[in-house]
Amino acid sequence: MYPWLKTHWQQLLTLVRQDQLGHGLLLKGVEGIGKGELAAALAKALLCQHANVAENEQGAPCEHCHSCQLIKAGNHPDLHVITGSQRSIGVDAIRQLIQVLNESARLGHGKVAVIEQAEKMTEAAANALLKTLEEPAGEATLLLISAHPERLLPTIRSRCQQWLLPVPEPDLVLPWLAGQGLEPSLAALNVNQGSPLNTRDYLTAGTDQRRRDLLQQFVELARQPRTLTEVQSGLLEQPVHLLWLQLLLQDALQLALGLSPAGLRLSDSETLSRTLSQLGPDRLHQAQNRLLQLRQTLQSGTGRPVNAGLQLGQWLNDWLINIR
Ligand SMILES: [Zn+2]
Repeated sequence: MYPWLKTHWQQLLTLVRQDQLGHGLLLKGVEGIGKGELAAALAKALLCQHANVAENEQGAPCEHCHSCQLIKAGNHPDLHVITGSQRSIGVDAIRQLIQVLNESARLGHGKVAVIEQAEKMTEAAANALLKTLEEPAGEATLLLISAHPERLLPTIRSRCQQWLLPVPEPDLVLPWLAGQGLEPSLAALNVNQGSPLNTRDYLTAGTDQRRRDLLQQFVELARQPRTLTEVQSGLLEQPVHLLWLQLLLQDALQLALGLSPAGLRLSDSETLSRTLSQLGPDRLHQAQNRLLQLRQTLQSGTGRPVNAGLQLGQWLNDWLINIR
């Protein structure tokens, strides 16, 4: 289990052991925190044929029994997973699931259903699930997973035992990332909003270097305005690239206001934010506000690519005029 989930894992196992786990569980937490892995481990513990024997006081799955072997092989007849890979989870998928849960367990050890990205359930699907969440037939446990629980029907939320998995402390995540053979930094964690698994993927893909290069190019625009087009297309590549810029401007503003560099989000780019801080707080504040508005417009889904290009182009032109 991931180090930042160990406490939750132990608490959940205790509930399993004491038979106090509800029929419906909602695992909440930001993307890339390991909700799916926790749900999979919990499903294994619930279905394990040895989890409740006396010598296994932890209630952890034994990894050896027929049930654990079947889960490892990916074909346990009493484990049903609805993945969040599709655009939405419709009523048919939920009805089908309920029907299977109503049948008796093949291995006689209860049934488990996992619904990933549960917020993708349509209203009809969610309504179809309500009754089963309240009183599931045949000792079924439903594990709902969501990074956006606020989008779930309140009636779904209220029928679940809710588990919030908070964004873990960097002290737990940084050593784990280093243990994966990566070179983690607080800045890398910050641009991924503290999400350990997203940071791992980001570092593995070499995106950290891309961030530093792109932000350096941006800062050098004042001296090399002819790279404007290149900077613009770099910033447009991914929505998160504008977040990088936002964080850099925030850091620059913090320095311009004479605040301590201790809390910089991109501590590895302090040279860059220090250069920008010479523009003074007013100009930085204005640029940052307008960038925030721009990001909100583009996030709302109304900004088609061409539109995004135009809007960012306008922002960059204003920026160049501003820094002259
Ligand atoms: Zn087992």
